[in-house]
Amino acid sequence: MTVRVGILGATGAVGQRFIQLLDDHPTFDLAAVTASEASAGKTYREAAKWRVDTPIPDDVAEMEVVETDPKAVPDDVDLLFSSLPSDVAAAVEPPFLEAGYVVSSNSSNDRMAEDVPLTIPEINPDHLGLIDVQRDERGWDGALVKNPNCSTITMVPTLAALDRFGLDRAHIATLQAVSGAGYSGVTSMEIIDNAIPHIGGEEEKMETESRKLLGSFDGAEVTLHGVDVAASCNRIPTLDGHLENVFAELAEDPSPEAVREAMRDQPAADLPSSPDQLIKVFDDSEPDRPQPRLDRTYADGMGIVAGGVRTTTKGVKYNCLAHNTIRGAAGASILNGELLAEEGWI
Ligand code: NAP
Repeated sequence: MTVRVGILGATGAVGQRFIQLLDDHPTFDLAAVTASEASAGKTYREAAKWRVDTPIPDDVAEMEVVETDPKAVPDDVDLLFSSLPSDVAAAVEPPFLEAGYVVSSNSSNDRMAEDVPLTIPEINPDHLGLIDVQRDERGWDGALVKNPNCSTITMVPTLAALDRFGLDRAHIATLQAVSGAGYSGVTSMEIIDNAIPHIGGEEEKMETESRKLLGSFDGAEVTLHGVDVAASCNRIPTLDGHLENVFAELAEDPSPEAVREAMRDQPAADLPSSPDQLIKVFDDSEPDRPQPRLDRTYADGMGIVAGGVRTTTKGVKYNCLAHNTIRGAAGASILNGELLAEEGWI
């Protein structure tokens, strides 16, 4: 079945990744691109300052960019991906939901709302059941689903794998790429020869979103996981790929090999964009991996890479990595869209 899709905020950094990833998608057919009033009426080629490493697909280059308004998007578009600034998304997503569109959104507004599924298809696909609650409470014909923040999605699959050993506490230090701040987010004068030990709002997102993602859904509400998460976020001068150092406290006392096996066994999803193996794990013979430049394109940027698993007095420490604008943004929304289609929500 072909699903006609649109992108809200298609000209931005994440919007461009959507266009790249949707080119040649087996079931999603791009039918609408929106942006701000300043871009509306232009062709996509005129409106977007294209910075992705493959050319703009020819058919998209000539598409007209329309306003981010339900009246401007064709009615027969089944699914919208949203990559708007979160304050804009908070204002414009509700009218699309009222108009009956299903929205798979990358923006941070409403991620922690009790009736909004925050979903990673390989980890908590059952949380999509919140859509029924959402429709009852909000009276929307459409549906809103969110994917997590890029630094959260990098570590949560590894924490899910550790949960079988009794996950009590996770402390994380991040080394995050500049693309996570958008093109105008960090100037070269700030970041070259430097590291910035603060990313506004990022620590709170990691600490709250992870507990919702790992939480249990009983058909009516999500109970947050009891794990205590503390994050410290750092911006470093890499282009793409967030690297994270995780210190996990566990009820049990697994060996590093048992932890590596648990991560390797974390199931993938049977969806077009899900990697065959969700978490690739380096063993002791390569203690200096994963690295952003070498490992961010694992599984076309849709996989998680872990390594450096060592024991501590209270559990384990290890490193994990994911591509922040693919698995951490556009790719995550597309995967949620594939899950919505697979489970009949569209
Ligand atoms: P961006 O490059 O600034 O792009 C923003 C997009 O929204 C553009 O298409 C822009 O259109 C459009 N837009 C801006 N104001 C608008 C308005 N008032 N009405 C309608 N459209 C408007 O931002 P980004 O880096 O792609 O980030 C998009 C979202 O993804 C943000 O919520 C961000 O937090 C989230 N995110 C980003 C990353 C990342 O790695 N960059 C990762 C995870 C999540 P014009 O071109 O016409 O201005």
